[in-house]
Amino acid sequence: MKNILFILSGPSGVGKGTLANLLRERNKNVALSISCTTRQPREHETDGKEYFFISKDEFIKEIESDGFLEYSSHFGNYYGTPRKFVENKLKTHDVMLEIDVNGGLSVKKNYKDAILIFIAPPSFNELKNRLINRHTETEDKIEERLQRIDYEFEKEKQYDYTVINDDLNRAVSELEKIINEEKNK
Ligand code: 5GP
Repeated sequence: MKNILFILSGPSGVGKGTLANLLRERNKNVALSISCTTRQPREHETDGKEYFFISKDEFIKEIESDGFLEYSSHFGNYYGTPRKFVENKLKTHDVMLEIDVNGGLSVKKNYKDAILIFIAPPSFNELKNRLINRHTETEDKIEERLQRIDYEFEKEKQYDYTVINDDLNRAVSELEKIINEEKNK
């Protein structure tokens, strides 16, 4: 069985992080790539765990030395996937990226074998409630993120799979099925 690179994308607040954590707990061969970002850490976030929180200057240096497999900016901050980590890990593990739709599509341009998986909410209202109940963003920021949802759904058409995050265990099982099928292709 080969190791695969797969990408989880989907609207902010859809629960990608929770899905990704459970998937990794259940599958020790899956490594998560930790992105770099210039945004400020949220209250419970730790440097090196959710992200590497770096300055704009550091980020620009990384771009210049071709250190990112892809990068983009959202909501005024930069986010990038560290190239070396992904390339090294793929030798021994399946690698999961949790990045936005544009990031996913640009990775696929370089790695044709990358599997793009879109995580969708059961409904728009459900997603809105999740974003609001998270209490991590101001109302303006929530609105900004909600407006991006249409754009992301447009890009979903170019994804290989869509998994609806209606029930955590069910959605993880569906992800596992996709991954196993792809590993055996
Ligand atoms: P958040 O600030 O909510 O953690 O993330 C905002 C958006 O940035 C999400 O859509 C998330 O998937 C995306 N993102 C996180 N890391 C990366 C990355 O390395 N590259 C790209 N292109 N997007 C990322």
